[in-house]
Amino acid sequence: MNSYRSLNSIKDAIKAKKTTCLGLTKYYLENIEELRTLNAFVEVFKEEAIARAKIIDNKIAEGKAGKLAGMVIGIKDNICYKNHKVGAASKMLDGFESLYNATVVERLLAEDAIIIGRLNCDEFAMGSANENSYYGPTKNPIDESKVSGGSSGGAATAVAANLCLAALGSDTGGSIRQPASFCGTVGLKPTYARVSRFGLIAFASSFDQIGPITNTVEDAATILEVIAGQDDYDSTISTRKVEQYTKLLDDKKPKRIAYFPECFESDGLDSEVKSAILKQIQTLKSKGHIVERVSFPYLDYLVPTYYVLTTAEASSNLARFDGVHYGYRSKKADNPETTYLKTRTEGFGKEVQRRIMLGTFVLSAGYHDAYYTKAQKMRRLIQDKTKEILNEFDFILTPTTPHTAFELGLEVKNPVAMYLEDIFTVLANLSGNPAISLPLTEHSNGMPFGTQLMAKPFYESELLAFSHNLMNSL
Ligand code: GLN
Repeated sequence: MNSYRSLNSIKDAIKAKKTTCLGLTKYYLENIEELRTLNAFVEVFKEEAIARAKIIDNKIAEGKAGKLAGMVIGIKDNICYKNHKVGAASKMLDGFESLYNATVVERLLAEDAIIIGRLNCDEFAMGSANENSYYGPTKNPIDESKVSGGSSGGAATAVAANLCLAALGSDTGGSIRQPASFCGTVGLKPTYARVSRFGLIAFASSFDQIGPITNTVEDAATILEVIAGQDDYDSTISTRKVEQYTKLLDDKKPKRIAYFPECFESDGLDSEVKSAILKQIQTLKSKGHIVERVSFPYLDYLVPTYYVLTTAEASSNLARFDGVHYGYRSKKADNPETTYLKTRTEGFGKEVQRRIMLGTFVLSAGYHDAYYTKAQKMRRLIQDKTKEILNEFDFILTPTTPHTAFELGLEVKNPVAMYLEDIFTVLANLSGNPAISLPLTEHSNGMPFGTQLMAKPFYESELLAFSHNLMNSL
């Protein structure tokens, strides 16, 4: 049973009567129970998933099932599911129940996916190791002494450990791709505005995107097809038509690929990661693709620009957690001021507090121009340069992460080291481009790491087709 690593293999097995949605759901539930120590799920919707599996089995029998029938999926704990708890892994929202469905959830349900539970993550999606969760860290399924990555650590671990077939995560600066790299799964961050964020608990609104974590590129394409596209509830969404990504996976034309020499000179890049990616570049050339060095002069500015802008946006987005509107309220609060002060002091974890303070500082009257405005100008330069490169090339190729998953506890006390984990992933969020992490390599230390590809905005079909090709050939 555990050989089903893609929706197509599941659909074939269902057709051949080798399995059922009910059988699959029970299988995943047993796995979740057995691998509790991974701490991937914050909550499992056991009874409900079983009941839904029975309904979908009936629909399959009647020939009325949706596109995702057979897919058992987990959702990150910052995506709203009506009448279910959602907490962004924060004490601030512990026990909070959503009154409505995120658009992505509506669309998954409409196509008969089975949502099996909510997945652990860093508090309010802030982190690179899943160690900032109120519910404790998610462990890496390949080596439990290591981090799963973050912030969608629960999502990547659950997919890698076969606790569900696929998961939805969110990516503000790498939170889908980085844990995917650390756990050996596929992670796709779609173009900014491709997928509705209605019902996603906001971190940094000009960066946030929802996307899939899967075993195969094909499953990522299937999920994107379902969740992408216009939505009346999200004013930032694009009205562009959603392509049939799964039907376009066969493109085998030679491509033009850029890589940044600066990436390979960056401090902290593991020598084996470096040599593996350089080797992949050689292989791509030998297969007829044009792969060229292109200087990217802003590499050192990416992480600072990202952290100034995202903390500014977070300080504003998280102002709504005031002890009155949602979730937690301090028991020591006795007037409006202490309600606000004590609730936020007790309800937010250290990293979230650090970011709110940093964001408030960079937006404050005396420093706004020196930090926030400057970072916005830098973002424009980064966007323009990325656009210029992708006018000439189809893809930009980099490692997803500078190294493989590190030991639990190693970086949690060193925020700057943690921020530097994001060096290769934040570019796609600063520029809004789609990017994917592919599990193409295993390090001699036994851990996987990802290759990242970035494409032009709304070129997901090319990105997915090339990735599909690469996964099957390298
Ligand atoms: N690691 C990054 C951060 O801490 C990215 C988080 C994310 O993409 N949600 O901000």
